[in-house]
Amino acid sequence: MAVTMTLAARTGAAFQVPRGGTLRVINTYGSQVVDTWAVARQEPQHGLSMAHTRAVLGRLVVKAGDELVDDRRRPVLHIAEDTSPGVHDTLIPACDPVRYRQLGHTGHHDNCSDNYHRALADSGLPDLLIPVPVPLNLFMNVPVNSDGDIVFSAPVSRPGDSVLLRALADVVVVLSACPQDILPVNGVLQQPRDVEVRITDAPGKHTEERS
Ligand SMILES: [Zn+2]
Repeated sequence: MAVTMTLAARTGAAFQVPRGGTLRVINTYGSQVVDTWAVARQEPQHGLSMAHTRAVLGRLVVKAGDELVDDRRRPVLHIAEDTSPGVHDTLIPACDPVRYRQLGHTGHHDNCSDNYHRALADSGLPDLLIPVPVPLNLFMNVPVNSDGDIVFSAPVSRPGDSVLLRALADVVVVLSACPQDILPVNGVLQQPRDVEVRITDAPGKHTEERS
């Protein structure tokens, strides 16, 4: 059975996804970046690795049909479907308190790194990956130009666009609705938004999930 929940703006959550289970990330407002990690449930010292995935795919950007791998190059997640224009980021680390300080913010600022640690703690899985792995930044638009420069740009995804991830191993998927509101990472309005997450926890249920 599929369960849909709201991931509130600026927050994170962890989801147990067994091999064959699926998780759909729905960009309700179209403008929200979702930092995405997958940690191996039985061996939490391993997890989804963007560096290894880029090398295996021979590409900077992930597409529908791709198999994403962990730091042992073992398949972890399959991008089963992507209804968005396909612009995602695999390069940029999760935002953290230092990032916001360097951007001129004083005092506390919600951030994806803290969301990751908190969500993983709530899941009961040991927090062994140091530093926080570079996430798959769904819907994040950071084009690389011909000089190698990168630009933090607004997402090009549309309201209701979604990415369907299928677990290729037993994993805990951690999501963070990025609270970046200083750069246009979450749209030109710089307004972090809620997203929706739909999970199916059993193999063979993706047909129902799509209904
Ligand atoms: Zn963030």
